[in-house]
Amino acid sequence: MSRPTARMAAVQTDFRPQATYWITIAGLVLITPFAVYQATIGRGVLSALGLGILLCLIGNAWHCRRIGRVGLLAVVTQMPLLIVFVLIATHRLHEIGVLWCFPVILAIYCMVPERWAIGGNLLLLALQFPIVWQVLEPAVAVRACTTLATVSLFTAILVRVISRQQRALHQALITDHLTGCLNRVTLEGTLEAALGHAAQTGQPATLFALDIDRFKRINDEAGHAAGDEVLRRVAQVLLEQCRPGERVFRTGGEEFLCVLGRIDERAIGERIGAWYEAIAAARPLPDREVTVSVGVAVLRPGETADEWTGRADAALYEAKDGGRDRFALAA
Ligand code: GH3
Ligand code: MG
Ligand code: MG
Repeated sequence: MSRPTARMAAVQTDFRPQATYWITIAGLVLITPFAVYQATIGRGVLSALGLGILLCLIGNAWHCRRIGRVGLLAVVTQMPLLIVFVLIATHRLHEIGVLWCFPVILAIYCMVPERWAIGGNLLLLALQFPIVWQVLEPAVAVRACTTLATVSLFTAILVRVISRQQRALHQALITDHLTGCLNRVTLEGTLEAALGHAAQTGQPATLFALDIDRFKRINDEAGHAAGDEVLRRVAQVLLEQCRPGERVFRTGGEEFLCVLGRIDERAIGERIGAWYEAIAAARPLPDREVTVSVGVAVLRPGETADEWTGRADAALYEAKDGGRDRFALAA
């Protein structure tokens, strides 16, 4: 199987960082002339607000890029500034100000975490409606308030649907569809995180490389569908026995890699013993025993991810060479 590319591993689960980036570009193009125009006709407050929004957009886009997600900075700077801008614009420019409320609603939903965006929009509408009522004819004010509320509601629905779909797609991207284990896409990141955690805390993580014994024979004699069922059952055992923070990857056809935390030698034997018992109890095949071999490697200080997985693989081969249905500790 080919290695995952950095691009695949970096797939984002949230559309907001990208939206923030593009809205900032659009904001530079659209708000700059607005701010300049307002300054030339003597509307200093609106011009200053426009420039403030621009600066906030740039600051938030930079912050977003740095931390890889939308942060609370957008909630405490961008959102209040946009709301104040719309309220003042409506108060001073009447219907023209109301029109600015539409892009602001969209911008808040696109750049601020969902719950904050809903709260911010409710606040915006609650403050905006009385002003709209003051500055517009009642017949127009009713329609303006209704359309603003509708746009806000529809955007909230759209954002919720996009977020759910994005999470589901991301889950599908990182999951092996046959077994429900993780696939290789997030393996590199997980190993690097384990290396970083060990360097910080001095608590080395442990790798278990597991391979089903004589799996080709199972396929040949019981059929491919039975082989698939064996894969599912073995994976189910590994996943069920997973503790918080542990990860199970299907790294190849009948090969799995489990990333566990710090675990002493006696506990390693107990852990693998529990897997063996559970796999036997699961009876993946009714008429024959299914066994697995395991190579175990405890992370060494200063070791790279490749060296670490290499030692786990070497231990697995040792277990195979030793007769299978056993585990070996990496040297
Ligand atoms: P060993 O004990 O040395 O590990 O021998 P083995 O037969 O398990 O290993 P080998 O690498 O020779 O065979 C692995 C087989 O797994 C070959 C391949 O057809 C099969 N396989 C790979 N992916 C799948 C899959 O998704 N489903 C099924 N049913 N079989 C698969
Ligand atoms: Mg095998
Ligand atoms: Mg194999």
